[in-house]
Amino acid sequence: VALRHHFHAHPELSWKEVQTTQKIVETLKSYGFKEEDLRVGFGGTSSGVIADINKDVDGPCIALRGDIDALPIVEENDVSYKSQNEGVMHACGHDAHNALLLGAAKVLMSMKDELPGHVRLLFQPAEEHGIKAGANIMIKEGALEGVDAIYGQHVWASVPSGKIQYKIGPFMASADGFELKIQGKGGHGSAPQYSVDPTIAAANFVFNLQTIISREIDPQDTVVMSIGKLQAGSAFNIIPDKVGINGTIRTFNPEVRNSLPDRMQRIVDGLCTMTRCTADFEYQKMIPTTINDEEVELIAKDVAEDIFGADNVEESPLIMGGEDFAFYQEKIPGGFCFVGIGNPDKGTDNPHHSPHFNVDDEVLWKGVATYAGVAWKYLVSHK
Ligand SMILES: [Zn+2]
Ligand SMILES: [Zn+2]
Repeated sequence: VALRHHFHAHPELSWKEVQTTQKIVETLKSYGFKEEDLRVGFGGTSSGVIADINKDVDGPCIALRGDIDALPIVEENDVSYKSQNEGVMHACGHDAHNALLLGAAKVLMSMKDELPGHVRLLFQPAEEHGIKAGANIMIKEGALEGVDAIYGQHVWASVPSGKIQYKIGPFMASADGFELKIQGKGGHGSAPQYSVDPTIAAANFVFNLQTIISREIDPQDTVVMSIGKLQAGSAFNIIPDKVGINGTIRTFNPEVRNSLPDRMQRIVDGLCTMTRCTADFEYQKMIPTTINDEEVELIAKDVAEDIFGADNVEESPLIMGGEDFAFYQEKIPGGFCFVGIGNPDKGTDNPHHSPHFNVDDEVLWKGVATYAGVAWKYLVSHK
């Protein structure tokens, strides 16, 4: 709890987790980690730590991952550990993840001679970055070398405090973006015959985009396409010369996801023919779908049931939010669970990324126990 409050009071944005990283290193050393057990700094920054327990022991290797970055939000909680960094806030609970992983590091380090294998702890920067996702960079820089499986978890405000949620297979959505630039020819609002009006193409794009979901995708597959930015024009009587559109796309089925860029491009091409505009369309692949490996996820479920009782473990619905943990799962089997923190009496049920988001400290121990328990059980069952 003290560590969680420390990180909460000193939040740092993606790829700027410098003090956070120093605190992690200092804490790990106090638990007995040596310099040679630690790798510090990823993506050309001083952010992030990989810490190894028993790296020279023969046997299986499991990685545990916790993300450590904060968000550009002005905190509105009135707590003793309120953010001291103006305009930056741990509003997703990554302060808790950091503390939970340190807790697990302490537990596992204290029993390292009994562990039948190697545990790698990933203190990952920049989960919130989207484009330069921390998980992707850490993988490129060797985080999964020699690792057989990975486990991660997220404190979750819409899950009742103390409950653990799991889901086998697709769990959290892919989160991609797109940018469309439509070029027409501007002119006087009274004389459209001398212009090529890009707002007509834009308006048609907004409607036709949804026909991909309603007419081309299997109704049992979930896709969301939302336009978050649509910009054109400068005055009421001028036909603008261009329109810019940006949006987000969420899916659970990787095949469906991979089919979307071509489908969207086809609509853009058709609208260009129809309206005489030209267009530049770019589909931006960001975060893949979080797909939980059955074996690792069932280990987490069993561990949670053993420690907290079956009443406290339930299956999660599909979640439309994205999680860069998915990059690890593209490479090796991985499981991801939610640790419920939602308690209306304590005000810990505010949504993630809200200026009122907060974590129920009384359930933090469950996150530590789950991390450590999954590592133990995985190693024992694979030795
Ligand atoms: Zn977040
Ligand atoms: Zn998060």
